[in-house]
Amino acid sequence: MAFIEISKENYKHNIEFLSNKAGGKDRLMVVLKDNAYGHGLEIMAKLACGFGIKKSAVKTLEEAKKINFLFEEVLILADHPPFELQDESISYAVHSLDGLRKFPKMSCLHVNIDSGMHRNGIREDEIEDAFNIIIENDLNLKGIFTHFRSADEMSSEQYWQNENFNRSKKIVKKLIKKYGLPMPKFHSCNSASLLRRKNPLQDDFARCGISTYGYTHLHENFGKFDLKPVMSLWAEKLSTRSLKKGDRVGYGGMYELKFDSYVSTYDIGYGDGFFRYDGLSELILEDKSVCGRISMDSLCFLGDEKKLCLFRDAHYLAKKFGTITYDITTKLSPYIKKVVV
Ligand SMILES: *Cc1c(COP(=O)(O)O)cnc(C)c1O
Repeated sequence: MAFIEISKENYKHNIEFLSNKAGGKDRLMVVLKDNAYGHGLEIMAKLACGFGIKKSAVKTLEEAKKINFLFEEVLILADHPPFELQDESISYAVHSLDGLRKFPKMSCLHVNIDSGMHRNGIREDEIEDAFNIIIENDLNLKGIFTHFRSADEMSSEQYWQNENFNRSKKIVKKLIKKYGLPMPKFHSCNSASLLRRKNPLQDDFARCGISTYGYTHLHENFGKFDLKPVMSLWAEKLSTRSLKKGDRVGYGGMYELKFDSYVSTYDIGYGDGFFRYDGLSELILEDKSVCGRISMDSLCFLGDEKKLCLFRDAHYLAKKFGTITYDITTKLSPYIKKVVV
């Protein structure tokens, strides 16, 4: 069966590199949403916990409940308010005043401030209203955060958003004092915004996803970063046939043999979340050319090796198909077996 190999050593290396950059392990929240970007939620959660990480983020309550026993706090980034109060290790990101009104009493919350991305979050002039709802409904404000829209691009937008967030922080701090509430944690940086920082992190922690898995899409002018891809994808041989020069392989007969050769079929395809390549241009995976179109459940290569590595670094595939590494790893089916080495 096809499998994903997870390098424990590379993950540890990235976590250490990023913790150093953030100013300590307790200043790094690892983002494990979407099945840990395809790497396997529970596997990566256990590894992160073993490396001393105390905070993580996921997308849904369902994900949070699988791993909250490993962390002091799991932040749910993009789910709807729950009907019942959750364990105090589980916090929710709040994206609007309307959303805020729906949380059960005592819920642990991180309020998202829209500092300019306009995807989610409350406006600066809604902060006071948010506090009124928090006090009225007896909610537990644990954090205040924002998200940058252009962190991995060469632009000054990050500074503009940061200024906006700093203004909101000041408003929050005043209201905290006024109402005598405990100070919430402030956070704003994702991977790219942490990596590009020249000065120490001002916030309480950073939320890092893609960089923990070994990737960055930051413009090269920001420098090179010592990150190591954690995942490699492997496929195993289903069958082999001996073909003649001129024989054509797969759907549409897109690949024509230039010499007599063995051709073997391997057990992964676009139904497993791998890319559906159309066989038109050349696709070379770890030095081997894919023969023709990728099918739903399989793909072909010249030769007869028992197992083949399809990638050790998702950058090549991302570039080839005009997308980003997030898209390549996250789409891999959660059913693909994981092997930690
Ligand atoms: C996904 C996500 C992150 C992590 O982003 P990376 O670029 O993978 O580091 C951080 N914050 C929020 C709100 C997110 O949705």
